[in-house]
Formats: sequence, structure tokens, C-alpha cells
Amino acid sequence: MDDVAAAILDDRLAPKGYAYLLIHKGWGTMATCMFREFSRERECFELTVESFKKVFPSLNMTDEKEFGGYGNFFFGKPACENGRYYVGESAGLQDCLWGFGLRYALLSGWLAARSIIEGGANAPQMYLSSLEERLLPMQRASLVNRLLFEMLGNRGYAHFIEKSAKMDTLEFLRRRYNPSFLGRLLFPLAGWWYRSRLVDKGCHRDGCTCVWCRCRGRQAQ
Ligand SMILES: Cc1cc2nc3c(=O)[nH]c(=O)nc-3n(C[C@H](O)[C@H](O)[C@H](O)COP(=O)(O)OP(=O)(O)OC[C@H]3O[C@@H](n4cnc5c(N)ncnc54)[C@H](O)[C@@H]3O)c2cc1C
Repeated sequence: MDDVAAAILDDRLAPKGYAYLLIHKGWGTMATCMFREFSRERECFELTVESFKKVFPSLNMTDEKEFGGYGNFFFGKPACENGRYYVGESAGLQDCLWGFGLRYALLSGWLAARSIIEGGANAPQMYLSSLEERLLPMQRASLVNRLLFEMLGNRGYAHFIEKSAKMDTLEFLRRRYNPSFLGRLLFPLAGWWYRSRLVDKGCHRDGCTCVWCRCRGRQAQ
């Protein structure tokens, strides 16, 4: 089929998240991103396939390969500890609304490297303040966006799509990420609301052999 980039917002097939289909020159990716009800993963994905087939009757999949993954975002854990600099997801840096983390990973990696090269004895402090300046305000806004998005539900998603389609969508989203008075007001509430989920399962101890660190080590090998 022709190239396409499509997404579905529907709690029945992607609870509080989204499903997407990307086709480029005959290669495609279809996924469902869930922020709740993880045990329904198989059912949600099957519903996603069904729905995209209805929307795009010419969709014909061959040589499918399944994949899966998880995202992780959290706040408040030092991104520099015991002489180590944590970047990307291991520093909790990821967009809390959509689970996007590539730009956070690249930018925080660059900021850490720059601090080490230029910061001298103040390198850790330089890294932490550059995160505060460049990434954390946007990430805090993304947590507030998640709180607001989760309140919408299927009817609200339709309204959200209609509204964003009436204007430049990038501009619409950019505005939602700008620091604002309302955002600053709602951030503590969002932090409290998600307090049980904003937990980093990894640890920053030297030579740690906890289950999480062992598993990540094995995955890496
Ligand atoms: C299905 C899926 C789709 C996504 N789509 C998007 C998207 O469209 N846009 C976007 O911005 N983000 C997307 N993300 C999120 C994005 O991929 C991640 O947030 C980003 O890759 C995080 O980068 P990272 O470098 O922090 O971590 P990772 O990419 O996870 O890299 C960490 C690396 O460290 C290795 N490692 C771990 N422990 C050890 C160890 N002890 N020793 C040595 N190596 C170790 C791991 O094997 C891994 O290779 C997606 C994620 C998933 C799962």
C-alpha cells in the first residue's frame, strides 16, 4: 500500500495511549502503546490490527515480526551520582505524554559529555543545571499533559483531534509543552497522582547486583 502515518486514540485498543501504523516503501510498523491494563496486551494488539485493516482495506501484511518494549520515566533521582552520569531513560528522561525518549536521550547525552569536557570540577553541577534549563521544564509539562490527556477518554480524544486538526498541529502541541502558570500549578498534583508509577526500578549503586541491574546487564550482552 502507499506510504502512510496514522494513529488511533481509543481506550479499547490502547488504554490511555495510542496505536500507530507507519508504512514506508512497503515496510511497515504497527504498534499499540498502552499506559494501563498491560495484561490486555495481546487483545489490544489484535484489536489494533483489526481496526487498521478496516480503515485501510488495502493493508496486507507479510513476513511479520513481533516486537515489544517498555518505557520508563521518573523525576527526582539525581542524574549524577557516584561519579556516574545518567542520561536518557536511565535518568528518567522521557516524554510522559507519548513515551518518546529519543530526543531526551540524545540531548542529555550531549549535555553530559559537554559538562565532562568543559565543566572541570563543576562538571556534575553543570550537567544538573543544564538538564534543569534544557529538558526538565518540558518533561514536567509532559507529565501535566499526561494527567490532562488521561482525563479525556474516547469522546475527549475525538474533540482533541478535531481541535488540533483545525490549526497547525505542531504549533498546537508546542503550546502544550511551553511552561505556563497552569502547568506549574498542576505539576505537583500530577506528581502526586502518578506517585506510585514514577518509580525508578534501577539503582545507582556501585557494582550493584540487584535483579533489575542483572537483567539489564544480560539484555545488553
Ligand atoms: C516500541 C517503542 C517505540 C518507540 N518509539 C519512539 C519514537 O517514535 N520516538 C521517540 O522519541 N521515542 C520512542 N521510543 C522511546 C525511545 O526508544 C527510548 O526512550 C530511547 O531509546 C531511550 O534511549 P536510551 O539511550 O536512554 O536507552 P536505550 O535505547 O534503552 O539504550 C540503553 C542501552 O544500554 C544498554 N544497557 C543497559 N544496561 C546495560 C549494562 N548494565 N551494561 C551495558 N549496557 C547496558 C541496553 O542494552 C541498551 O542498548 C520508543 C520505545 C519503544 C519501546
